[in-house]
Amino acid sequence: MSYDKVEVPSEGEKITLADEETGKLDVPEQPIIPIIHGDGIGTDVGPAAQKVLEAAAEATGRSISWMRVYAGASARDEYGENLPDDTVDAIREFRVAIKGPLTTPVGAGFRSLNVALRQKLDLYANVRPTYHIDGVPSPVKNPEAMDMVFFRENTEDVYAGIEWEAGTGEVEEVKEFLAGEMGVGDKLHDGPIGIGVKPITEFGTKRLVRQAIEYALENDRDSVTLVHKGNIMKFTEGAFRDWGYELAEEEYGDVTITEDALWDEYDGEQPADKLVVKDRIADNMLQQLLTRTGQYDVIATMNLNGDYMSDAAGAQIGGLGIAPGANFGDGRCLAEPVHGSAPKYAGEDKVNPTAMILSGRIMLEYLGWKDAATLVRDAVEETIASKEVTYDLHRQIDGGEKLATSEFADKIVENVEKLA
Ligand code: NAD
Repeated sequence: MSYDKVEVPSEGEKITLADEETGKLDVPEQPIIPIIHGDGIGTDVGPAAQKVLEAAAEATGRSISWMRVYAGASARDEYGENLPDDTVDAIREFRVAIKGPLTTPVGAGFRSLNVALRQKLDLYANVRPTYHIDGVPSPVKNPEAMDMVFFRENTEDVYAGIEWEAGTGEVEEVKEFLAGEMGVGDKLHDGPIGIGVKPITEFGTKRLVRQAIEYALENDRDSVTLVHKGNIMKFTEGAFRDWGYELAEEEYGDVTITEDALWDEYDGEQPADKLVVKDRIADNMLQQLLTRTGQYDVIATMNLNGDYMSDAAGAQIGGLGIAPGANFGDGRCLAEPVHGSAPKYAGEDKVNPTAMILSGRIMLEYLGWKDAATLVRDAVEETIASKEVTYDLHRQIDGGEKLATSEFADKIVENVEKLA
Protein backbone atom coordinates (compact mmCIF):
# COMPACT_ATOMS: atom_id res chain seq x y z
CA MET A 1 0.00 0.00 0.00
CA SER A 2 1.41 3.44 -0.81
CA TYR A 3 0.50 6.55 1.11
CA ASP A 4 0.24 10.06 -0.21
CA LYS A 5 1.41 12.20 2.70
CA VAL A 6 2.21 9.93 5.63
CA GLU A 7 5.23 7.70 6.16
CA VAL A 8 5.07 4.07 7.18
CA PRO A 9 7.64 3.78 10.02
CA SER A 10 10.84 2.08 8.88
CA GLU A 11 10.94 0.06 12.10
CA GLY A 12 8.21 -2.28 13.23
CA GLU A 13 6.02 -4.83 11.52
CA LYS A 14 2.48 -5.17 10.36
CA ILE A 15 -0.17 -6.95 12.44
CA THR A 16 -1.75 -9.63 10.26
CA LEU A 17 -4.79 -11.86 10.40
CA ALA A 18 -3.92 -15.30 11.77
CA ASP A 19 -7.34 -16.85 11.28
CA GLU A 20 -9.94 -15.54 8.83
CA GLU A 21 -12.84 -17.27 10.57
CA THR A 22 -12.24 -16.13 14.14
CA GLY A 23 -10.56 -12.80 13.27
CA LYS A 24 -7.61 -13.72 15.55
CA LEU A 25 -4.48 -11.66 14.93
CA ASP A 26 -0.81 -12.37 14.55
CA VAL A 27 0.88 -9.59 16.54
CA PRO A 28 4.64 -8.91 16.24
CA GLU A 29 6.72 -7.67 19.19
CA GLN A 30 6.96 -4.23 17.58
CA PRO A 31 3.70 -3.61 15.73
CA ILE A 32 3.04 -0.53 13.60
CA ILE A 33 0.04 1.24 15.11
CA PRO A 34 -1.65 4.21 13.42
CA ILE A 35 -2.67 7.04 15.76
CA ILE A 36 -4.94 10.06 15.20
CA HIS A 37 -4.42 12.62 17.96
CA GLY A 38 -7.72 14.26 17.05
CA ASP A 39 -9.27 17.72 17.35
CA GLY A 40 -9.53 20.05 20.33
CA ILE A 41 -8.25 18.30 23.47
CA GLY A 42 -7.07 15.44 21.25
CA THR A 43 -3.81 17.38 20.98
CA ASP A 44 -3.48 17.06 24.77
CA VAL A 45 -4.76 13.55 25.47
CA GLY A 46 -3.28 11.93 22.32
CA PRO A 47 0.40 12.45 23.20
CA ALA A 48 -0.33 11.66 26.87
CA ALA A 49 -1.79 8.26 25.96
CA GLN A 50 1.06 7.55 23.55
CA LYS A 51 3.59 8.04 26.36
CA VAL A 52 1.80 5.70 28.77
CA LEU A 53 1.15 2.95 26.20
CA GLU A 54 4.75 3.06 25.05
CA ALA A 55 5.95 2.74 28.64
CA ALA A 56 3.68 -0.27 29.24
CA ALA A 57 4.85 -1.95 26.03
CA GLU A 58 8.49 -1.41 26.93
CA ALA A 59 8.02 -2.57 30.51
CA THR A 60 6.74 -5.88 29.13
CA GLY A 61 9.55 -6.37 26.61
CA ARG A 62 7.89 -4.96 23.49
CA SER A 63 7.59 -1.67 21.70
CA ILE A 64 5.15 0.24 19.51
CA SER A 65 6.01 1.87 16.18
CA TRP A 66 3.52 4.74 15.93
CA MET A 67 2.31 5.92 12.55
CA ARG A 68 0.78 9.41 12.83
CA VAL A 69 -2.27 9.76 10.57
CA TYR A 70 -4.71 12.63 10.31
CA ALA A 71 -8.43 13.37 10.47
CA GLY A 72 -10.45 16.50 11.24
CA ALA A 73 -8.68 19.86 11.58
CA SER A 74 -5.17 18.42 11.25
CA ALA A 75 -6.21 16.66 8.02
CA ARG A 76 -7.70 19.86 6.64
CA ASP A 77 -4.28 21.47 7.18
CA GLU A 78 -2.34 18.60 5.58
CA TYR A 79 -4.73 17.43 2.88
CA GLY A 80 -7.48 20.01 2.51
CA GLU A 81 -10.08 17.39 3.48
CA ASN A 82 -11.49 15.93 6.69
CA LEU A 83 -10.90 12.24 6.26
CA PRO A 84 -8.16 11.44 3.74
CA ASP A 85 -7.82 8.01 2.16
CA ASP A 86 -4.34 7.71 3.74
CA THR A 87 -5.97 7.55 7.17
CA VAL A 88 -8.67 5.03 6.32
CA ASP A 89 -6.19 2.89 4.32
CA ALA A 90 -3.63 2.90 7.15
CA ILE A 91 -6.16 1.69 9.73
CA ARG A 92 -7.42 -0.92 7.27
CA GLU A 93 -3.90 -2.15 6.50
CA PHE A 94 -2.44 -2.11 10.02
CA ARG A 95 -5.67 -3.37 11.65
CA VAL A 96 -5.27 -1.93 15.15
CA ALA A 97 -5.27 1.83 15.76
CA ILE A 98 -6.16 4.49 18.31
CA LYS A 99 -7.75 7.90 17.89
CA GLY A 100 -8.59 10.98 19.92
CA PRO A 101 -11.89 12.86 19.53
CA LEU A 102 -12.96 14.58 16.32
CA THR A 103 -15.23 17.62 16.18
CA THR A 104 -18.61 17.36 14.46
CA PRO A 105 -20.49 20.63 13.93
CA VAL A 106 -24.22 20.38 14.75
CA GLY A 107 -26.65 20.70 11.80
CA ALA A 108 -24.88 22.16 8.77
CA GLY A 109 -21.35 21.16 7.84
CA PHE A 110 -20.06 17.64 7.47
CA ARG A 111 -21.34 14.38 8.87
CA SER A 112 -19.57 12.90 11.89
CA LEU A 113 -16.07 11.74 10.98
CA ASN A 114 -16.28 9.24 13.80
CA VAL A 115 -19.36 7.67 12.28
CA ALA A 116 -17.76 7.79 8.80
CA LEU A 117 -14.62 6.00 10.06
CA ARG A 118 -16.65 3.29 11.77
CA GLN A 119 -18.74 2.77 8.64
CA LYS A 120 -15.87 2.81 6.14
CA LEU A 121 -13.88 0.28 8.16
CA ASP A 122 -16.97 -1.72 9.09
CA LEU A 123 -16.15 -1.40 12.78
CA TYR A 124 -19.57 -2.62 13.76
CA ALA A 125 -19.26 -2.94 17.53
CA ASN A 126 -18.55 -0.01 19.82
CA VAL A 127 -17.40 -1.50 23.09
CA ARG A 128 -17.29 0.44 26.34
CA PRO A 129 -16.07 -1.26 29.50
CA THR A 130 -17.55 0.75 32.34
CA TYR A 131 -16.23 0.19 35.86
CA HIS A 132 -15.39 2.43 38.77
CA ILE A 133 -11.82 3.37 39.70
CA ASP A 134 -11.32 3.73 43.43
CA GLY A 135 -10.96 7.39 44.38
CA VAL A 136 -12.79 8.83 41.37
CA PRO A 137 -15.66 11.05 42.56
CA SER A 138 -19.07 9.86 41.42
CA PRO A 139 -22.61 11.26 41.71
CA VAL A 140 -23.99 7.92 42.99
CA LYS A 141 -23.71 6.21 46.36
CA ASN A 142 -22.23 2.91 45.25
CA PRO A 143 -20.28 3.53 42.06
CA GLU A 144 -18.29 0.32 42.62
CA ALA A 145 -21.44 -1.70 41.78
CA MET A 146 -21.00 -0.67 38.14
CA ASP A 147 -18.99 -3.19 36.13
CA MET A 148 -20.65 -3.43 32.75
CA VAL A 149 -19.39 -3.74 29.20
CA PHE A 150 -21.58 -2.08 26.56
CA PHE A 151 -21.66 -3.49 23.03
CA ARG A 152 -23.31 -0.84 20.88
CA GLU A 153 -24.09 -1.62 17.23
CA ASN A 154 -22.22 0.94 15.17
CA THR A 155 -23.44 0.80 11.58
CA GLU A 156 -27.25 0.75 11.60
CA ASP A 157 -30.25 2.39 13.25
CA VAL A 158 -31.18 6.05 12.84
CA TYR A 159 -27.42 6.76 12.83
CA ALA A 160 -26.94 5.06 9.46
CA GLY A 161 -27.16 8.48 7.80
CA ILE A 162 -30.19 7.64 5.65
CA GLU A 163 -32.08 10.89 6.05
CA TRP A 164 -33.43 13.75 3.97
CA GLU A 165 -33.50 17.43 4.78
CA ALA A 166 -36.69 19.49 4.95
CA GLY A 167 -37.32 21.55 1.83
CA THR A 168 -35.43 19.26 -0.57
CA GLY A 169 -36.87 17.44 -3.57
CA GLU A 170 -35.73 14.14 -2.07
CA VAL A 171 -37.69 14.53 1.14
CA GLU A 172 -40.82 15.42 -0.84
CA GLU A 173 -40.34 12.27 -2.95
CA VAL A 174 -39.98 10.11 0.16
CA LYS A 175 -43.02 11.78 1.73
CA GLU A 176 -45.05 11.14 -1.40
CA PHE A 177 -44.01 7.48 -1.39
CA LEU A 178 -44.93 7.11 2.28
CA ALA A 179 -48.28 8.86 1.85
CA GLY A 180 -49.15 7.20 -1.47
CA GLU A 181 -47.69 3.77 -1.83
CA MET A 182 -47.28 2.97 1.85
CA GLY A 183 -50.55 4.57 2.98
CA VAL A 184 -49.18 6.31 6.08
CA GLY A 185 -49.89 9.90 5.03
CA ASP A 186 -52.16 10.43 8.05
CA LYS A 187 -49.10 10.05 10.31
CA LEU A 188 -47.21 12.90 8.64
CA HIS A 189 -48.07 16.47 9.63
CA ASP A 190 -48.32 19.11 6.91
CA GLY A 191 -45.53 21.57 6.31
CA PRO A 192 -41.74 21.21 6.26
CA ILE A 193 -40.56 17.74 7.26
CA GLY A 194 -37.24 15.96 7.73
CA ILE A 195 -37.28 12.16 7.34
CA GLY A 196 -34.80 9.56 8.56
CA VAL A 197 -34.78 5.78 8.19
CA LYS A 198 -34.03 3.22 10.91
CA PRO A 199 -32.60 0.06 9.38
CA ILE A 200 -32.02 -2.91 11.72
CA THR A 201 -30.92 -6.10 9.97
CA GLU A 202 -30.62 -9.71 11.04
CA PHE A 203 -27.01 -9.66 9.82
CA GLY A 204 -26.13 -6.50 11.79
CA THR A 205 -27.85 -7.75 14.92
CA LYS A 206 -26.38 -11.21 14.93
CA ARG A 207 -22.76 -10.22 14.41
CA LEU A 208 -23.04 -7.67 17.24
CA VAL A 209 -24.70 -10.11 19.65
CA ARG A 210 -22.13 -12.75 18.66
CA GLN A 211 -19.29 -10.42 19.72
CA ALA A 212 -21.05 -9.68 23.01
CA ILE A 213 -21.59 -13.37 23.79
CA GLU A 214 -18.04 -14.28 22.78
CA TYR A 215 -16.71 -11.55 25.06
CA ALA A 216 -18.93 -12.66 27.95
CA LEU A 217 -17.79 -16.28 27.60
CA GLU A 218 -14.10 -15.40 27.28
CA ASN A 219 -14.18 -13.09 30.28
CA ASP A 220 -16.30 -15.30 32.50
CA ARG A 221 -19.20 -12.86 32.72
CA ASP A 222 -22.62 -13.92 34.08
CA SER A 223 -25.05 -12.43 31.59
CA VAL A 224 -25.68 -10.67 28.30
CA THR A 225 -28.69 -8.31 28.27
CA LEU A 226 -30.31 -7.35 24.97
CA VAL A 227 -31.63 -3.80 25.38
CA HIS A 228 -34.36 -2.60 23.01
CA LYS A 229 -37.57 -0.63 22.70
CA GLY A 230 -39.34 -3.47 20.94
CA ASN A 231 -42.66 -2.81 22.66
CA ILE A 232 -43.01 0.33 20.50
CA MET A 233 -40.69 -0.26 17.51
CA LYS A 234 -41.71 -3.86 16.96
CA PHE A 235 -40.17 -4.49 13.56
CA THR A 236 -36.80 -2.88 14.24
CA GLU A 237 -35.98 -3.01 17.96
CA GLY A 238 -38.31 -5.96 18.51
CA ALA A 239 -36.56 -7.81 15.70
CA PHE A 240 -33.20 -7.03 17.33
CA ARG A 241 -34.37 -8.81 20.48
CA ASP A 242 -35.73 -11.81 18.55
CA TRP A 243 -32.64 -12.20 16.36
CA GLY A 244 -30.43 -11.81 19.43
CA TYR A 245 -32.16 -14.71 21.21
CA GLU A 246 -32.16 -16.73 18.00
CA LEU A 247 -28.39 -16.30 17.60
CA ALA A 248 -27.80 -17.27 21.24
CA GLU A 249 -29.79 -20.45 20.75
CA GLU A 250 -28.44 -21.36 17.31
CA GLU A 251 -24.75 -20.83 18.01
CA TYR A 252 -24.39 -20.95 21.79
CA GLY A 253 -27.34 -23.14 22.81
CA ASP A 254 -25.14 -25.43 24.92
CA VAL A 255 -23.58 -22.62 26.98
CA THR A 256 -26.41 -20.10 27.30
CA ILE A 257 -29.80 -20.13 29.01
CA THR A 258 -32.63 -17.61 29.02
CA GLU A 259 -33.83 -15.90 32.18
CA ASP A 260 -37.03 -17.99 32.07
CA ALA A 261 -34.99 -21.20 31.95
CA LEU A 262 -32.87 -19.94 34.83
CA TRP A 263 -35.99 -19.82 37.03
CA ASP A 264 -37.91 -22.74 35.55
CA GLU A 265 -35.05 -25.22 35.38
CA TYR A 266 -32.46 -24.00 37.89
CA ASP A 267 -34.58 -22.23 40.54
CA GLY A 268 -32.71 -18.99 39.95
CA GLU A 269 -29.33 -20.56 40.79
CA GLN A 270 -27.09 -19.84 37.82
CA PRO A 271 -24.94 -22.86 36.88
CA ALA A 272 -21.26 -21.93 36.58
CA ASP A 273 -21.06 -23.17 32.99
CA LYS A 274 -24.04 -21.22 31.67
CA LEU A 275 -24.31 -17.64 30.50
CA VAL A 276 -27.73 -16.04 30.99
CA VAL A 277 -29.13 -14.18 27.99
CA LYS A 278 -31.93 -11.79 28.96
CA ASP A 279 -33.58 -8.67 27.59
CA ARG A 280 -34.80 -5.34 28.94
CA ILE A 281 -36.80 -2.45 27.53
CA ALA A 282 -34.48 0.53 27.08
CA ASP A 283 -36.25 3.06 29.35
CA ASN A 284 -36.50 0.51 32.15
CA MET A 285 -32.83 -0.35 31.64
CA LEU A 286 -31.85 3.31 32.08
CA GLN A 287 -33.51 3.19 35.52
CA GLN A 288 -31.93 -0.12 36.36
CA LEU A 289 -28.47 1.22 35.62
CA LEU A 290 -29.03 3.23 38.80
CA THR A 291 -31.30 1.02 40.88
CA ARG A 292 -30.05 -2.52 40.13
CA THR A 293 -26.55 -1.77 38.92
CA GLY A 294 -24.96 -4.99 40.11
CA GLN A 295 -27.42 -7.22 38.24
CA TYR A 296 -26.08 -6.37 34.81
CA ASP A 297 -22.94 -7.36 33.11
CA VAL A 298 -22.55 -7.35 29.31
CA ILE A 299 -25.09 -5.22 27.44
CA ALA A 300 -25.84 -5.60 23.71
CA THR A 301 -27.90 -2.90 22.08
CA MET A 302 -28.48 -0.77 19.00
CA ASN A 303 -26.77 2.45 18.04
CA LEU A 304 -28.97 5.15 19.58
CA ASN A 305 -29.84 3.30 22.80
CA GLY A 306 -26.18 2.40 23.18
CA ASP A 307 -25.07 5.99 22.76
CA TYR A 308 -27.38 7.29 25.51
CA MET A 309 -26.99 4.37 27.82
CA SER A 310 -23.21 4.14 27.82
CA ASP A 311 -22.89 7.89 28.48
CA ALA A 312 -25.34 7.61 31.39
CA ALA A 313 -23.39 4.66 32.78
CA GLY A 314 -20.16 6.58 32.22
CA ALA A 315 -21.48 9.41 34.40
CA GLN A 316 -22.03 6.93 37.25
CA ILE A 317 -18.35 6.05 37.30
CA GLY A 318 -17.07 9.61 37.22
CA GLY A 319 -17.82 11.05 33.82
CA LEU A 320 -16.35 11.65 30.46
CA GLY A 321 -12.73 12.18 31.45
CA ILE A 322 -12.61 8.55 32.58
CA ALA A 323 -14.78 6.57 30.13
CA PRO A 324 -12.85 4.54 27.51
CA GLY A 325 -14.05 2.76 24.38
CA ALA A 326 -13.05 0.90 21.25
CA ASN A 327 -14.64 -0.03 17.94
CA PHE A 328 -14.28 -3.58 16.69
CA GLY A 329 -14.80 -5.16 13.31
CA ASP A 330 -13.70 -8.61 12.24
CA GLY A 331 -9.96 -8.61 12.96
CA ARG A 332 -9.84 -4.82 13.38
CA CYS A 333 -9.88 -2.41 16.31
CA LEU A 334 -9.97 1.37 16.59
CA ALA A 335 -9.74 2.46 20.22
CA GLU A 336 -11.14 5.89 21.18
CA PRO A 337 -12.31 7.66 24.32
CA VAL A 338 -16.03 8.26 24.79
CA HIS A 339 -15.59 12.01 25.23
CA GLY A 340 -15.53 14.59 22.46
CA SER A 341 -13.06 17.31 21.57
CA ALA A 342 -14.13 19.76 24.35
CA PRO A 343 -12.91 22.72 22.24
CA LYS A 344 -12.88 25.23 25.09
CA TYR A 345 -10.03 23.32 26.80
CA ALA A 346 -8.05 22.58 23.64
CA GLY A 347 -4.29 22.90 23.91
CA GLU A 348 -4.38 24.00 27.56
CA ASP A 349 -2.64 20.92 28.92
CA LYS A 350 -5.48 20.71 31.42
CA VAL A 351 -7.97 17.92 30.74
CA ASN A 352 -7.95 14.36 31.96
CA PRO A 353 -6.24 11.87 29.60
CA THR A 354 -7.51 8.80 31.53
CA ALA A 355 -10.26 7.96 29.00
CA MET A 356 -7.78 7.97 26.11
CA ILE A 357 -5.19 6.02 28.11
CA LEU A 358 -7.73 3.39 29.15
CA SER A 359 -8.94 3.17 25.53
CA GLY A 360 -5.34 2.28 24.80
CA ARG A 361 -5.58 -0.38 27.48
CA ILE A 362 -8.46 -2.01 25.57
CA MET A 363 -6.27 -1.90 22.47
CA LEU A 364 -3.38 -3.61 24.29
CA GLU A 365 -5.77 -6.29 25.50
CA TYR A 366 -6.93 -6.85 21.93
CA LEU A 367 -3.29 -7.30 20.88
CA GLY A 368 -3.14 -10.11 23.42
CA TRP A 369 -0.76 -8.08 25.63
CA LYS A 370 -2.74 -8.73 28.80
CA ASP A 371 0.25 -8.02 31.06
CA ALA A 372 0.78 -4.58 29.51
CA ALA A 373 -2.96 -3.86 29.67
CA THR A 374 -3.11 -4.76 33.37
CA LEU A 375 -0.07 -2.60 34.03
CA VAL A 376 -1.81 0.42 32.46
CA ARG A 377 -4.95 -0.18 34.50
CA ASP A 378 -3.01 -0.61 37.74
CA ALA A 379 -0.81 2.44 37.10
CA VAL A 380 -3.84 4.65 36.39
CA GLU A 381 -5.53 3.40 39.57
CA GLU A 382 -2.40 3.95 41.65
CA THR A 383 -1.98 7.50 40.32
CA ILE A 384 -5.60 8.43 41.02
CA ALA A 385 -5.41 6.87 44.49
CA SER A 386 -2.45 9.16 45.27
CA LYS A 387 -4.77 12.13 44.52
CA GLU A 388 -2.33 13.64 42.04
CA VAL A 389 -4.92 14.29 39.37
CA THR A 390 -6.15 16.64 36.65
CA TYR A 391 -8.48 19.58 37.41
CA ASP A 392 -11.75 17.71 36.80
CA LEU A 393 -11.04 15.19 39.57
CA HIS A 394 -9.09 17.60 41.77
CA ARG A 395 -12.03 19.98 42.17
CA GLN A 396 -14.20 17.15 43.48
CA ILE A 397 -11.87 15.62 46.07
CA ASP A 398 -10.42 16.80 49.35
CA GLY A 399 -6.74 17.62 49.25
CA GLY A 400 -4.47 16.20 46.60
CA GLU A 401 -2.51 17.99 43.93
CA LYS A 402 -3.74 19.42 40.65
CA LEU A 403 -1.64 18.31 37.69
CA ALA A 404 -1.53 19.26 34.02
CA THR A 405 -2.44 16.59 31.44
CA SER A 406 1.22 15.98 30.64
CA GLU A 407 2.29 15.85 34.31
CA PHE A 408 -0.48 13.38 35.12
CA ALA A 409 0.64 11.18 32.21
CA ASP A 410 4.24 11.36 33.50
CA LYS A 411 3.05 10.17 36.93
CA ILE A 412 1.28 7.24 35.30
CA VAL A 413 4.44 6.39 33.36
CA GLU A 414 6.40 6.47 36.67
CA ASN A 415 3.85 4.08 38.15
CA VAL A 416 4.00 1.79 35.11
CA GLU A 417 7.77 1.55 35.62
CA LYS A 418 7.38 1.05 39.37
CA LEU A 419 4.75 -1.69 39.06
CA ALA A 420 6.40 -3.56 36.17
P1 NAD B 1 -17.22 16.78 24.95
O1 NAD B 1 -17.06 15.40 25.44
O2 NAD B 1 -16.22 17.26 23.99
O3 NAD B 1 -17.18 17.77 26.19
C1 NAD B 1 -18.22 17.98 27.13
C2 NAD B 1 -17.60 18.39 28.46
O4 NAD B 1 -17.10 17.21 29.10
C3 NAD B 1 -16.41 19.31 28.37
O5 NAD B 1 -16.78 20.67 28.31
C4 NAD B 1 -15.67 19.00 29.63
O6 NAD B 1 -16.24 19.68 30.72
C5 NAD B 1 -15.93 17.51 29.82
N1 NAD B 1 -14.83 16.68 29.29
C6 NAD B 1 -14.78 16.01 28.11
N2 NAD B 1 -13.64 15.36 27.99
C7 NAD B 1 -12.93 15.62 29.11
C8 NAD B 1 -11.64 15.22 29.59
N3 NAD B 1 -10.84 14.42 28.87
N4 NAD B 1 -11.23 15.68 30.78
C9 NAD B 1 -12.01 16.49 31.52
N5 NAD B 1 -13.22 16.88 31.14
C10 NAD B 1 -13.68 16.46 29.95
O7 NAD B 1 -18.69 16.88 24.34
P2 NAD B 1 -19.37 17.99 23.44
O8 NAD B 1 -19.01 19.35 23.97
O9 NAD B 1 -20.76 17.58 23.32
O10 NAD B 1 -18.71 17.81 22.01
C11 NAD B 1 -17.62 18.60 21.49
C12 NAD B 1 -17.28 18.07 20.11
O11 NAD B 1 -16.78 16.73 20.17
C13 NAD B 1 -18.48 18.01 19.14
O12 NAD B 1 -18.04 18.45 17.88
C14 NAD B 1 -18.85 16.55 19.11
O13 NAD B 1 -19.47 16.19 17.92
C15 NAD B 1 -17.50 15.91 19.24
N6 NAD B 1 -17.55 14.52 19.77
C16 NAD B 1 -16.67 13.65 19.26
C17 NAD B 1 -16.63 12.36 19.74
C18 NAD B 1 -15.63 11.40 19.16
O14 NAD B 1 -14.68 11.84 18.54
N7 NAD B 1 -15.80 10.10 19.32
C19 NAD B 1 -17.49 11.96 20.77
C20 NAD B 1 -18.37 12.90 21.31
C21 NAD B 1 -18.39 14.18 20.80
